[in-house]
Amino acid sequence: MDTLIKALASNGAIRIFVADTTELVREAAKRHHCLPTAAAALGRTLSAGALLGANLKGTDEKVTVQINGGGPLGTIMVDANGQGEVRGFVANPEVHFIHQTTHKLDVSRAVGKDGTLKVILDRNLKSDFTGTVDLQTGEIAEDFAYYFTVSEQTPSAVSLGVLVDEHNEVKAAGALMIQMMPSASEADILMAEHVVANLRPISAMISDGMTPEDIATRLFDETVVLETIPLKFKCTCSKDRMADALKTLERDEIEAMIHEDHGCEITCHFCNTTYRFTESELYSLTVRS
Ligand SMILES: [Zn+2]
Repeated sequence: MDTLIKALASNGAIRIFVADTTELVREAAKRHHCLPTAAAALGRTLSAGALLGANLKGTDEKVTVQINGGGPLGTIMVDANGQGEVRGFVANPEVHFIHQTTHKLDVSRAVGKDGTLKVILDRNLKSDFTGTVDLQTGEIAEDFAYYFTVSEQTPSAVSLGVLVDEHNEVKAAGALMIQMMPSASEADILMAEHVVANLRPISAMISDGMTPEDIATRLFDETVVLETIPLKFKCTCSKDRMADALKTLERDEIEAMIHEDHGCEITCHFCNTTYRFTESELYSLTVRS
């Protein structure tokens, strides 16, 4: 099962979030029929979404991420809540590039570098917060590190990884965030920099069978785990919600669907589930409205 842990090291001077997002990224990539580079880009953003969701204060809060770098993938959109529920999509999932020299998935080329990373905190009637930063590399992890450092004013290192095998299946995915708290000393900062400089890819550690707790305790001495949150891919859509959306259409538009198309289909962007409405179901929507 996917989990995220929140931990502290160095007497609370260093905050660590580690997440195993393998199953939720695999499910998202399958639902959206992603090619490997699109799966990596969406999976990294979903994994970052899990970090942001774990950072929310109230259980009724939600966070939405939008990345648009002007590349062939188009917009990547992810949202997450404080219960570890994450969902997302990429506009063009059939994008795949291999880097010519590293032979790795070329996420930066697929995402593009000319655009923004936007984070919207929905605090349920309390004032919303939107933070927008320019994309740094389009590799996503560096872009989120920049977002946390600039927009939330917390010096942060972020590692996001998705391992896709030759059969186009997600084998491992995860996220790691290391943040310096205001109490951090010069020695704490140097130690954290040393850890970051020698970091193995998070997806490789997860692929080796390490749990989030194993990873946190391997990286830092005297790690204290504060909380473990189960993670999953979960969408909020339903047939009733789709019916509510249909009800906002003009009556003659719904009548056209009844008489010309004999029903309609609506697909949820976030989870790719298709809902079908028959003629009589559409007719009942016009009666009620
Ligand atoms: Zn959905």
